[in-house]
Amino acid sequence: MLKANPNYLKLPGSYLFSTIAKKVAAYKEANPDRTVISLGIGDVTQPLPPSVIKALHGAVDEMASKEAFKGYAPDLGYDFLRNAIAENDYKKRGCDIAADEIFVSDGAKSDSGNIQEIFDEGCRIAVCDPVYPVYVDSNVMAGRTGTYDEKTERWSDVIYMPCTADNNFVPDFPEEAPDIIYICSPNNPTGTAMAKSDLQKWVDYANEHKSVIIYDAAYESYISEEDVPHSVYECDGARTCAIEIHSFSKNAGFTGTRLGYTVVPRDLKDADGVQLHGLWARRHGTKFNGAPYIQQKAGAAVYTAEGQAEIRTLVSYYMENAKTIRDALVSAGYTVYGGVNAPYIWLKTPDGKKSWDFFDHMLEDANVVGTPGSGFGPSGEGYFRLTAFGTHENTAEAVARIKRL
Ligand code: PLP
Repeated sequence: MLKANPNYLKLPGSYLFSTIAKKVAAYKEANPDRTVISLGIGDVTQPLPPSVIKALHGAVDEMASKEAFKGYAPDLGYDFLRNAIAENDYKKRGCDIAADEIFVSDGAKSDSGNIQEIFDEGCRIAVCDPVYPVYVDSNVMAGRTGTYDEKTERWSDVIYMPCTADNNFVPDFPEEAPDIIYICSPNNPTGTAMAKSDLQKWVDYANEHKSVIIYDAAYESYISEEDVPHSVYECDGARTCAIEIHSFSKNAGFTGTRLGYTVVPRDLKDADGVQLHGLWARRHGTKFNGAPYIQQKAGAAVYTAEGQAEIRTLVSYYMENAKTIRDALVSAGYTVYGGVNAPYIWLKTPDGKKSWDFFDHMLEDANVVGTPGSGFGPSGEGYFRLTAFGTHENTAEAVARIKRL
């Protein structure tokens, strides 16, 4: 008898951003005369950098030539890109990561959702609360999270680590040691980042408890403060306990182009000594036919001197928005977090307003779309996320509207 996967049936509601999109569409249909500005989903608005465009054109031309045409890409990634990543993102930062420990993919969403597949169904996961929804949902799909309590909005088998203003958005060690610990820094949604000293404590904790840290570094290029690490491998001992996930979406604008990578060091083993590197390679070999050559050439262009200068310009552009939003909200009396090492501003809703009520208020009275904090987890209640990924013009207009409220 054909039956749907029961784990999928456990997933509550729709994906957060689909819910928001539906609400916004309904509002726009009912109010066609209003111009709605979205500072909601974390999608970029600026065009791809010139050196990336040049590399894309060059790669397309190669595909048109009999001599240079490329078919299937190697499933773990082309050496030219893996070497550029190893050199620039690791060696230059003093991190001991080899090119063959880097797995090129179509982005950090797939990798952060798929990586759980190499772990036993019985492994206990710990997530920050609030959290990027993919980590929990992908474990629900894998049958690892137990039952869902609608009242508390929590899964029985997930260890939640609240991250609020009370602990400076740095998770405390849970009472029960998890097997898999998801950490995202700089963080989506709170826009805050972990200092190296805090991350080192988590690396030590993971090694001590034989846990693995899945470190999502999608926003690494937004780090502006000296004491914030760009990679978990800047911490001593991370090679034996951490997997790191990267994206080209936020630094180089590849949200529509698609490219990312994951690092699984060879020293990382399960309790029986099984090398996780081999398992992830096996998984790629079976389920992934390689990121397109064209995209990988574009990714390599990001690591050229011109590419690096161009992505610095892009990041500065968005971080100017972050400053615009932060300054305006502070002057309007809001309490704000984030926006210094990340393109997200996490504001406290005024007068204890519920996050979704504040969402409605912003949509209806300012025609600005943000993301309700509670959509990222119960500890996000009473918070609201604004992204700095808009254009300067839209961002300035949105904050002017918010200040007039
Ligand atoms: N990880 C985090 C924390 C994100 O916020 C996002 C996108 O918003 C992603 C991963 C997805 O990145 P990609 O576009 O590479 O799939």
